[in-house]
Amino acid sequence: MATTTDADLTAADVAWDLEPLVEGKGEAGVDALLDEADRVSASVAERRGTIADLDAAELSALMHEVASIGDLVGRAGSYAQLRFAVDTTDPTRGALLQRVEERATAINTKTLFLDLEWAALPDARVTELLADDRLAFCRHYLAAARRYRPHLLSEPEELVLTEKAVTGRSAWTRLFSELTSTIEVDLGGGRVSLEEALSQLTSPDRGERRDAAEAVTKALEPGLRTRAFVFNTLLADKAVDDRLREYPDWIASMNLANEASDESVQALVAAVQARYDIPQRWYALKARVLGLDRLTDYDRMASVADEESEFGWREARELVLDAYGSFSEELQAAAHRFFDKAWIDAPVRAGKRPGAFCAYTVPSQHPYVLLNWTGRRRDVLTLAHELGHGLHAYLARGQGIFHQTTPLTLAETASVFGETVTFGRLLDATADPSARFALLAESIEGQIATVFRQTAMNRFEDRVHTERREVGELSVGRFGELWYETQTEMLGDTVEITDGYRTWWSYIPHFIGTPGYVYAYAYGQLLALSVYRAYEERGAGFVPQYLELLRSGGSRTPDELGRIVGVDLADPRFWDGGLAIVEQQLEAAERAAVDAGRVPA
Ligand SMILES: [Zn+2]
Repeated sequence: MATTTDADLTAADVAWDLEPLVEGKGEAGVDALLDEADRVSASVAERRGTIADLDAAELSALMHEVASIGDLVGRAGSYAQLRFAVDTTDPTRGALLQRVEERATAINTKTLFLDLEWAALPDARVTELLADDRLAFCRHYLAAARRYRPHLLSEPEELVLTEKAVTGRSAWTRLFSELTSTIEVDLGGGRVSLEEALSQLTSPDRGERRDAAEAVTKALEPGLRTRAFVFNTLLADKAVDDRLREYPDWIASMNLANEASDESVQALVAAVQARYDIPQRWYALKARVLGLDRLTDYDRMASVADEESEFGWREARELVLDAYGSFSEELQAAAHRFFDKAWIDAPVRAGKRPGAFCAYTVPSQHPYVLLNWTGRRRDVLTLAHELGHGLHAYLARGQGIFHQTTPLTLAETASVFGETVTFGRLLDATADPSARFALLAESIEGQIATVFRQTAMNRFEDRVHTERREVGELSVGRFGELWYETQTEMLGDTVEITDGYRTWWSYIPHFIGTPGYVYAYAYGQLLALSVYRAYEERGAGFVPQYLELLRSGGSRTPDELGRIVGVDLADPRFWDGGLAIVEQQLEAAERAAVDAGRVPA
C-alpha cells in the first residue's frame, strides 16, 4: 500500500464548494433566488382557472415557468440543506434552512392549483396535448401526475377521507410509533433503547447475543396486544381504502406509487423466493465459521468480519476512478469532475451529518456528494456508491428538472452498479484470505438484508393483508405464525427460530406507516445487480445502452427504461441475473473461508 499521510487518511482537505449554487453571493444569494421564484410563481398564479383552455404552446410556456421556479427554489434549498449538513450545530445555518423551507412552501402553494386543474382535464384532451413535442420535456411527468386518477373518488368524498385520516390512519400510525419508541430493554443491569439492544446482536460473543435477544423478546411482550390491534385496524383501513378506490389487491397502490408494474414486482418476488437457497447456504457457512452446528435466530447478525485495513483518500480515488474507467471513459471523465471541482465533502467533522448521500440539486447545476471518510474499506465502496448516484444525476441533467430524477425503484441503478465494479477490483487487489473473507461476508450480508429479508417481509405483509381481507382480524398468535412461516421459508432448516422470535414483527414501522414499501429495497438493489449481470454477459456492446439508460433519468416508466438496455422487468429470468451475482460472491466466500482457515477444508 502506498505511504499515506494523516491528512490523506482522513481526507481532511476534501471539502465541497457550494457557492456556485448561489452565484457566489452566500446567504444574500439565497434570498435573491427566492425573490425571483416568488415573482415567477406570482405570474404563474395568474393562470389559475385557465388550464383547461391552454393549447400545447401555452401549456409548454407555462411548464417552462414552473421549471424555472423549481430551478430557483432547488438551488436555494440545496445550498441551505448542504450547508447545514456539514455543520448542524451552527444556529445561523439552521435558521437559513428553516427560512428557505418556509419561503419555498409559500411559493409552492401558489402553484398547487396547476396539479388540481391538470388532474381534472378529460383523458382525450390530455392525450392530444401530450402528443405535442413541445411538451416532451415534461411529458412523462404530466402523464404520471394523473396516474392515480382512475382511483380517485369524487371531490367531496376525497375531502372527507383526507380530513378523517388525521384522526384515523395517521393517529393510529402515530400511536404505534409512540408505543415502540418508548420500549425499553433490560440489558446488562441497565435499561437501553430497543435499537441499542438490537445492535448487540452483532456481538462476536454468543452469550451476549442470546441475552440481548431474550431481553428484546421480553421487552416486546408488554403492549403486544395493543400493537396487534393497531396493526389489525390499519390492515382493515387499507382494505376499505383499496375497495373504495378499486385497487385489485393490497399491493397495487404501492406499485402505482413506485411506477412499478404489478408484473415486474411479481417477477422480482418469484425470482427471489426461488433462490432462498442462497441465504441458507450463507447461514450454513456462517455456522461453521462460528463453530456451531446450526445458527439460532440471534446468531444471524454476529460479526465475522474482523479484518480492517486503512485506505488513504488518494488511493481510494484512484481505485474508484479506475473502476469506472474500466467500464467507460465517459463515466470516468465525469467522475473526475467530482474530485477536481470540489463537489465532494469527505472528512468527519464535529457537527456534520453522519452517513453518506448524494444530492442531485438541479439540472442547471451539478450534484454534490457527502461522505464521512474514515479510511476503511467500507468507505471506498460507499464513495463508489454515492459517486454512482452523482454520475446518474450528472448524466441525466439534460432531461431537465421534470425528468432528471428516477422513481425510487430505479434510483440505485448507477450506485449499486458502480459499487459492484469497485467491489470486484477491491477483491482482486486483496490477496490476504482473511481480508477477502471479510470483504465478501460484509457484501453478502448486505445483499441478504436488502434482497432476501425484505422479500420475506413482503411475503409476511402479503399473508397478513390477504388474511385480514379473507378471514378477518388476526390474533397475536396468528401474526406470530405467519411471521414464523415466512421467515422459515427463507431460512429453511439452517437457522433455528426460537419461540421468542415470533413477536419480532411487532416493532417494524414500515408495516404500519408505509404498507407494501419494503419490497422497494429488494427491487432497487436487485435491478441494479441484474443490469450489471447483463453487462457481464454482453460486455462492451452493453456500455452505450447503459449510458443511454442513465441519460434518460426518470423520463419514462421503469419498464420502459429497462427496454433501453434490452431487459424485461416482468420476466423472472431478468432478476435471476442479479441473484447469480450474489451466488458468485457466496461461492467466493466459501473458498476464502477455507483459505483463511475459518472453516475446515
Ligand atoms: Zn444508494
